[in-house]
Amino acid sequence: MNNFEDTIAQLCLNKYHSLKKTGKPIATEWTVLSGIVMKNNDNNLKVIALATGTKCLGINELIDNKINIGNRLHDSHAEVLTRRAFLRYLYIEIEKLLNNENNLSDIFILNTYKNIIELKNGVSFHFYCSQTPCGDCSIIPINYTNLLNDEVDIDVNGREIGYQETEIIQDLHRTGAKCIVDDKIQDPKLPGVNYHAIGPLRTKPGRGDPTLSLSCSDKLAKWNIVGIQGALLSILIPKIKLETIVIGGNCPFSIESMNRGIFKRFSTEISAPIILQSTLEFEHIKSDERHHPCPSSVIWCHVKNRHTEVAVEGRKQGATKKNKCNLLITRKELLHQFLKIIDNSNLKIIDIPKHPKILTYYDYKQLSIDYQKTWKECKQRYFENWPSKPIDLQQFLL
Ligand SMILES: [Zn+2]
Repeated sequence: MNNFEDTIAQLCLNKYHSLKKTGKPIATEWTVLSGIVMKNNDNNLKVIALATGTKCLGINELIDNKINIGNRLHDSHAEVLTRRAFLRYLYIEIEKLLNNENNLSDIFILNTYKNIIELKNGVSFHFYCSQTPCGDCSIIPINYTNLLNDEVDIDVNGREIGYQETEIIQDLHRTGAKCIVDDKIQDPKLPGVNYHAIGPLRTKPGRGDPTLSLSCSDKLAKWNIVGIQGALLSILIPKIKLETIVIGGNCPFSIESMNRGIFKRFSTEISAPIILQSTLEFEHIKSDERHHPCPSSVIWCHVKNRHTEVAVEGRKQGATKKNKCNLLITRKELLHQFLKIIDNSNLKIIDIPKHPKILTYYDYKQLSIDYQKTWKECKQRYFENWPSKPIDLQQFLL
């Protein structure tokens, strides 16, 4: 019987192996794999969301593409795509619940007394990533021994004796994510352990272009406090937190750096997920043979139809100007799912006008009063520099 971390990793690896080759790395490419596993009251485990990805769009690409607002994914790191696939899974589970009165959703029940949706007893969610998330979690101290002198001498009995002189070099595993441009804390970029500043929020690198997307360490830290369900789903369901984070084998990992990246750098009072490293290695991890990041992403979630999608540069693979087929995990498509539920349900959630076609994506998010209040407080206390995306990129209608 495997331990829990290897079981979670193995389930995600098996699911990845079961998917078609399209979108997976070729022989010279590497990628990151991430997944979410659901555990139910009977201790059964099931992979419900999975994605690969290494890329992120820069500011200029976002602004040049105003036509595509809401249609294009900005951040295609595996962790972030997995969360989006998970959101899609949650919407489909809500639909199942509302259409079939409790008995078809794996994770939700309807509290008919209060007319609200609750998580089933004993349901929990466990996150997997084949390598340590980019950003603060990836700043990991390393010590290695440097051989200064290696001499051999002959003693009085004619035997060889070695004289070795060594020194311990202290260094850091580095992250490509950069401190936020106008933050007063910046990386000193000095040799060795003083290369990085530890603790500040960071943005992901793009193609030579700065991005507006925060590092996966920062996003995981946010989800750990406000939940992984996001603003829109907070209107329909309770907060969902990840119980465990499992990192894959054979990659730089430190429990101290992970704990710091996810919560300790903000406050030791934040409740933390259990963090573990599996011994199982993802076969498409970066290596001497696999030295190019794979430009495409595979996205999968546990739903009946169209469960697998392939994305390139934030769009569905093969999408052209004429054939504007959207990925099902974009903001636009998720808003569409949200409104479909609002239109068809009699849930007494909050007073949402039934699809008036005048509210934008941004407006709907503001209706999530409790979530917005928590996020605002959380920003004031812990994430003062968290940059908000230009409001223009959220002002789209369906
Ligand atoms: Zn990342």
